[in-house]
Order: sequence, then C-alpha cells, then structure tokens
Amino acid sequence: MVKVLLTGGSGFIAAHIIDILLARGFDTVVTVRSDEKGQRILDAHPNTPKEKLSYVVVKDVAADGAFDDAVKSNPPFDYVLHTASPFHYNVQDPVKDFLDPAIKGTTGVLKAVKAYAPTVKRVVVTSSFAAITNPKEHPKVYSEKNWNPVTWEDAMDRSQTYRASKTFAEKAAWDFVEKEKPNFDIATINPPLVLGPVVHYLNSLDSINTSNMRIAGFIRGEYKDKLPPTATYLWVDVHDVALAHVRAIEVDAAGGQRFFLTAGLYSTKDIADIIRESFPALADRLPPPDSPSDMPADVYGYDNSKSIEVLGIKYHTLKESVEETVKSLLAVGA
Ligand code: NDP
Repeated sequence: MVKVLLTGGSGFIAAHIIDILLARGFDTVVTVRSDEKGQRILDAHPNTPKEKLSYVVVKDVAADGAFDDAVKSNPPFDYVLHTASPFHYNVQDPVKDFLDPAIKGTTGVLKAVKAYAPTVKRVVVTSSFAAITNPKEHPKVYSEKNWNPVTWEDAMDRSQTYRASKTFAEKAAWDFVEKEKPNFDIATINPPLVLGPVVHYLNSLDSINTSNMRIAGFIRGEYKDKLPPTATYLWVDVHDVALAHVRAIEVDAAGGQRFFLTAGLYSTKDIADIIRESFPALADRLPPPDSPSDMPADVYGYDNSKSIEVLGIKYHTLKESVEETVKSLLAVGA
C-alpha cells in the first residue's frame, strides 16, 4: 500500500485531497492542530478503516522539530503533501502569524522527512499564484517561469504579508532541495483563487474558508449595490487543485516541477451573472445585471499547459464551480 502524510488536514483544499486519496486507495494520515479537528475528519468518514485514514496532532508548525514525530510511521510514508499554511486577511503580527508558520512550516517538514522518513520519494508543497504574481508589473502571460519579486520589507505591509509568506515558503523549499540534496524530490502546486464546495463537516457560517468568502458575500447580499473588485483575474476549481496534488505524486515526471494551476480568467461580474442565472431566487441580493466588469481589456494571459500535459488536469468551468459552491454554502446556512 502507498502511504501519504497530508499536513493541514482540516483545510478546505485538504478536505478535497483526502477524498481523492481515499478513492484512489492511498493510506492517508493527516496532521491537524487538535484532536477535536482530527476526530471531526474521522467522523466524516465512518466507513473508512483506521489503517486507511488517521490523524496526528501537530500543534504549531513553526516550532522546531514540529514534524519530527509526525513523519515517523509504521508502515513508513511514501509521499508527503504539505498544505498547512495560514490563509486569512487578519494579519496582527506578520512574522509570527504568517511568515514563520509558512516558511518554518515548510522547511520543518522537509528537514523532518530528510532526517526521519528515508522512504519518502516526493514532497508536494502547496504554494500559490501569490508566489508567481508581480502585481506592480504584470507580464503579458503568466506561467511557472514567473516569481513574485516581493521583499521581506514589503512583507511587513499587511496587504502583502500573505503573498510574501507563500513566496518565501516556496523559495525556501527549492533552496532546501538544492543545498541539502535529499533523497526525495519536490513539486509545488501554485493555484490562484480556489473556488468550490465547502466541506460541511469543517464549515459553519462563521468559518467559511477565505477563498469562498466572496461568493458567500454575494449570497448574503453584501454586494447588492456594487460588484466587489476582482483583484486577481485568475481562478481554479478546488477539485482540480486537489487532483493536481495527487497527480503530482502519481506522475513520475512531476518531480522537480512547479505547476501553475488555473482554469482561466474571470471577474466578479462573471460570478454574479452565474448566480443570477442559476439561482433566480437569489437575484435580489445581487448587484444590478448591467454592472460593468472591472477586467481591463489588456489583462494578462496565462499558460497552464504544463498542468494539462504533465498532470492531466481537465479544468472545471466557472459555471460548474460557482454553482457547486453556492449550493454548498446554502447548505451551511449562508
Ligand atoms: P484553509 O484555511 O482552509 O486551510 C489552511 C490549513 O492550514 C488548515 O488546515 C489550517 O489549520 C492550517 N494552518 C493554518 N495556519 C496554521 C498554523 N499556523 N499551524 C498549523 N496549521 C495551520 O485554506 P486552504 O485550504 O484554502 O489553503 C490550503 C493551502 O492552499 C494553503 O497553503 C494556502 O496558502 C494554499 N492556497 C490556497 C488558495 C485558495 O484560494 N484557497 C490559493 C492558493 C494557495 P486549522 O484548520 O487548524 O486552522
């Protein structure tokens, strides 16, 4: 049996990764910050035996040696998927709340695997388009070749802290492999805004994951008067992101590669239009149908060909993704 350690098992993307790992027969161990969260994951999979799905508690990913015990297992792990990283916009202390858990969390996993899990062949790190984008000077076409030029000083500006945390964490991962030359290789998955159904056992109305908050806002009538700004005009469905993580361990050629994962361009007007058309009962909570899109005519392009060619991703459409997201949010009471 092939055994996988998935960090941040209580996250939005991780929940979808768990479903794919189990469906494809992987033995799956997740890390969570508390027994309560671990138990909720097990309770949501009542028919899955404990050798197929279990959890270990890693309270603070930034602590020295945080993953040293988690990576030791019998039978031992074959692969690690590292998704745990703070993703919200409530930045109090940029270093303690974001940069440390993102960077030390990533290097901590890699160090622990090198020291204590010699059977691991690959570590897949969830990075982000945040590590690719250059908001001050967009290239004509974004691809894996681009890097966010953000500096440590920029990271202290709270509007840039999250993006910086993802950039520095991914750089630290590639640096680790180059300097330490471990027995395993790495791959990174770099998605922009991830949309898709929230997982009912993890979410309540007060804890909608960050990337679905805008759709939740539409449903609650928060943008009734005006479309919210789109900010980044790229998106991807959570099923495709989750599958990319699993394909990144299944496909040999994925080793040593960075994967920019996007279904394409969108603007908040597209989301409002899909909700209006597919959920007519919500129409009076949405901005007027003639609200103009904020997407500039000369918006950047994207090259997602590597994710299609190497990982075999067939991207969901925005309509499919928004409809599923809205249904899931209505089910948790949005
Ligand atoms: P969630 O907030 O749902 O998941 C984040 C996960 O990381 C949770 O399991 C959370 O644990 C864990 N985590 C956060 N901070 C810490 C910490 N300090 N110590 C230990 N664990 C921590 O977000 P997503 O599922 O969306 O994000 C998963 C990954 O995907 C992240 O690396 C994020 O940067 C990346 N990503 C997400 C995008 C998106 O649009 N959703 C886009 C691009 C990248 P807990 O439940 O206990 O809080």
